[in-house]
Amino acid sequence: MKEYAPSIQKFSERLIAWSSTLHHVSIASKLEVSEIDESHLKVSIPVLSGAQAVSLNVTVEKDVFARVAIEPELLDDLFDASSHQLAIGIATAFYREYEVLFAHDFEQTEPELPDEEPTGYCRFCGRSAPAVTFAEDAHALPESVGNKVLFANHECDECNRHFGIEIEDHFGRWSNVQRTIFLVEGKTGMPNLTMKSGYVKPGHDLTEIKLSRDSMAAFDPGRTTVKIKLIRPSHIPVAVLKAFNKMALSIMPSSELVHFESTLRWIRNKDHAVRLDRPSSVLLSTFCPALESSNTRCLLLKRTSADMTKPYMTFVLAFGNFCYQIFLSAPADKQNAECHVTPYFYLYDSSRAAPSQSQMIDMGSSESKRNEEVTLTLRICGPIEQGRAS
Ligand SMILES: [Zn+2]
Repeated sequence: MKEYAPSIQKFSERLIAWSSTLHHVSIASKLEVSEIDESHLKVSIPVLSGAQAVSLNVTVEKDVFARVAIEPELLDDLFDASSHQLAIGIATAFYREYEVLFAHDFEQTEPELPDEEPTGYCRFCGRSAPAVTFAEDAHALPESVGNKVLFANHECDECNRHFGIEIEDHFGRWSNVQRTIFLVEGKTGMPNLTMKSGYVKPGHDLTEIKLSRDSMAAFDPGRTTVKIKLIRPSHIPVAVLKAFNKMALSIMPSSELVHFESTLRWIRNKDHAVRLDRPSSVLLSTFCPALESSNTRCLLLKRTSADMTKPYMTFVLAFGNFCYQIFLSAPADKQNAECHVTPYFYLYDSSRAAPSQSQMIDMGSSESKRNEEVTLTLRICGPIEQGRAS
């Protein structure tokens, strides 16, 4: 095995560096390599995820390690495939201790909410008819992400209107870029993005992108890809976070609501500067080029073990090629203030080795965020018009 030692060393270093960017897991600084058969090696990687220690294995062809010195790009491919396999292994270990309370694929299954309170009771403000009315259709998830079927019978008209204006509008502006680029059909058909500096307009066969400044688009030397800068409409991050929490509370079985009374009060508070006692303001955002489908999907998971270092409950929302995840603010007897988290990976196509990119975004700010730049790399497959902005 001596002949592969430098390649194994480089490979290990990259995996360890990659794991340090994950925040939520740690992998040992030394990986064990053993021989499986004449042509394969096994790389064993000890991983600590939450309070759990697991060992994950990656199988590598000897031949690939042997050729790395002459073809360095092989190491990139190997790293991409291995980190993808590892991410799935880490998620499998992490979510073994969770049960699905509710899951829905907006293109495939008939909706069935876990349970319903007697009609005429609002779970958000605690009031009942006739003090409040229930005449309007209250969407459990926003219509902007393609929800036309999942309604919350336990949301009064007053709360419905309040959520629409105070939080879902911010969610709509924040998600505008993602929904436009990935053609997520909402209330009024395809979304589009309008900026001072141009627009993005999806059409039947192609999406038209117009940018008024050259600095907003950069072509690679071979002109196979173009990196574009889009401007996200202004929004209040914590209002977006409240919208995610509201979705989770809408699909939650009523027996669990008792643990989230402060969250129920918090999402109804117009004053976005008022924080929760035990805020959980992380939004885990994962971009994955190899999603199994781009249908909008949602999922609510509850921890089944007593491991307080892991969040008690997590809500996942996927649309386009993005998957977003929040960790609800559970009381002190349900989870520690500091929790380990890892992306929920089962929505991704595990047979393709496309590396996904996760990032933790702090959505705790109540200050309006303006002119936030979103950079996207697009593959060019048609003619490009470049000219003066008119
Ligand atoms: Zn209400």
